[in-house]
Formats: sequence, structure tokens, C-alpha cells
Amino acid sequence: MKIGVIAIQGAVSEHIDALRKALKERGIDAEVVAVKHKSVIPECGGIVIPGGESTTLCRLLAREGIAEEIKDAAARGVPILGTCAGLIVLSKEGDEQVEKTSQELLGIMDTKVNRNAFGRQRDSFEAELDVEILESPFTGVFIRAPGIVSCGPEVRVLSRLDDLIIAAEQGNVLALAFHPELTEDLRIHQYFLDKIFKNA
Ligand code: GLN
Repeated sequence: MKIGVIAIQGAVSEHIDALRKALKERGIDAEVVAVKHKSVIPECGGIVIPGGESTTLCRLLAREGIAEEIKDAAARGVPILGTCAGLIVLSKEGDEQVEKTSQELLGIMDTKVNRNAFGRQRDSFEAELDVEILESPFTGVFIRAPGIVSCGPEVRVLSRLDDLIIAAEQGNVLALAFHPELTEDLRIHQYFLDKIFKNA
């Protein structure tokens, strides 16, 4: 089994490390691979789309032919985790800023996002979050974070901050506005592994 981390931009190595640690804790033997090119995603049983800058991410995913592969994987039920810019990329609809840059979102989740809901780079902060899938609060690291402003009925809201949805799940797909890979807390990566290995 391979788990692919899209390695175009952003906190790639942090996600790879977190997944490797989480796999080790479980005693599961799976390979975590950095995905830069086409033809790897079809072999993956789980996919992570890290943060970064969503316009660039969308453009490069399309150019490399990875965007279509991710959409196919999503349709086959392969678990996908998108964090920060990854949450934007997974969404169906964006705000005016997204429309203006004609960002091609993957449209895998029935969500509408505000790309810079929590401000720009200087607006980084941490917050203790209640996340529905976890038994105790999780420290969310927010960096120029997006937020989900609205979602369809198939989307399960897992956490909110202010009036925005910051964690959500739609079947096999999990999207977070914050960065679990930048903390030592592996619970969300563990939950993602549960989805991959069908324990959740
Ligand atoms: N707001 C950023 C964007 O528009 C995402 C920020 C992040 O991934 N840290 O792409």
C-alpha cells in the first residue's frame, strides 16, 4: 500500500513525517511517497494535499495531469486529506478572489470556500479546537487560513471557528483549514489512516 503526498508546494515533508510516525505507532507497513508527477496517484490508497498557495497548486496539478488522477481516485473512494490550501483545492466553489484568478478547483467536496478567511500571512495564530472526531481539543495552527462558508447536505461539519467551518468530511474526503502536520499531535493523521485501513 502506498500513501501519496502531493509534493508540489507547502508542508510536504511534515505530512510525510507525520504519516510515517502514525503508521509506525500502528505497526502498519505502508509506503509514504512524495508525488510530483503523473501515474503515481492511481497506485495510492490514500492521498494528502498539503497547504501552500492554492492558485499555484491548482495550476500545477492540472499541468502535470495529477488533477484528473485525484478526481478519479476520489470517485473510487480513496481517502483524501486536504489541509489549508488543500481544502481550497478540494472545494467545489470559491470566493471572488478564486474566480478572478480562474483557479480550477477539483470540486470534490460540496463546499464553498473563502480563500483567505482568516487573513494573510501575518495573521497566523493557534486555537484550541473542538473537532467532532476527537475526544479532546486539538491545537489548530492557522496560516493565512481559508474557511468553508457553506456546504451541501452530504458534508459533515467537524469543527467551526467564528462563523466558519474549519474541518469537514464528505465520505472518503477530509478537509481542514489548519495544519495538523505542524504539531506533534498525530490524532488527525491517525484518523486518516483509519479511513484508509477501514477502521473508521
Ligand atoms: N490562503 C492560502 C491560499 O489561498 C492558503 C494558505 C495555506 O495553505 N497556508 O492558497
